[in-house]
Amino acid sequence: MRIAIQANNNASSQAARQKLIKGLKQANFEVDVPHPEVVITIGGDGTLLSAFHRYAAVLDEVRFIGVHTGHLGFYTDWRDYETDELIAALKRDSGESTSYPLLDVLVDYEDGTTAHFLALNEATLKGTSGTMRTDVYVKENFFESFRGDGLCVATPTGSTAYSKSNGGAVIHPRLAALQMTEIASINNRVFRTLAAPMILAPDEWVSLRPEPFQEYVMSIDQFTAKPAMINAIRFKVASEKIRFASYRHMHFWDRVEDAFIGEKKPDAL
Ligand code: NAP
Repeated sequence: MRIAIQANNNASSQAARQKLIKGLKQANFEVDVPHPEVVITIGGDGTLLSAFHRYAAVLDEVRFIGVHTGHLGFYTDWRDYETDELIAALKRDSGESTSYPLLDVLVDYEDGTTAHFLALNEATLKGTSGTMRTDVYVKENFFESFRGDGLCVATPTGSTAYSKSNGGAVIHPRLAALQMTEIASINNRVFRTLAAPMILAPDEWVSLRPEPFQEYVMSIDQFTAKPAMINAIRFKVASEKIRFASYRHMHFWDRVEDAFIGEKKPDAL
């Protein structure tokens, strides 16, 4: 099996990387190859997001494994002190994986160019100064005129990230849905938006048509693009998925509880 390792620069992540490389080589794995079958990230969700974007063009060939070194680690199943257990699980690998939905973003710029992105967490549109104004369409139909700081469209696994801070619901990733949340919308007698998170079905899409002759800032996961004039953006559930090597199965709601509540609790029902 061909394995690539991507670690952040923290001393603990680099130490875990060295230990893992040594153990994998001793177990006769091909390590740090340009075309991996498995990508192991060491750090936190930020490291996993970076690795996802690095390998986004070959998602059907790659499975991911996240090792965390004390970060939140929502996407990560292993701790840095468990390298021996992880290598043992890799030796027993039979190709098992769990896949999660992604967000497909198509941007139509004012200069006639287009760009296509995949997001693991979310895409966000904001203005550069003052109130952002955009018309919102669901499928072909006009839905509302939004005024406020911005709009965020998230995947189910991204629903625990920025989307949650915007008041969005936490969505189980077995639902191939997308969720749009408002960032500080203006709601009064004159301007009206839904003022609630919207969860869209897999065969639906949302389009934004921002006010012309203004610059907007698009963020895709941890990346923020340069301000640009945008004609339209379309968001839909991607046909691609991210796959994780699921040697350990942690139920989604246990993952959510561990990340956000983490209290001692009574025994299971
Ligand atoms: P960052 O400061 O590196 O990360 C922000 C926090 O979000 C970190 O604790 C990170 O965990 C956690 N996180 C990332 N993905 C998550 C997920 N799917 N579920 C739960 N928590 C998650 O921020 P960044 O590098 O600029 O952006 C990375 C992501 O962070 C963005 O996609 C966005 O969703 C989120 N973010 C949230 C807010 C907010 O809630 N106000 C603001 C900025 C960014 P680790 O510590 O394990 O990396």
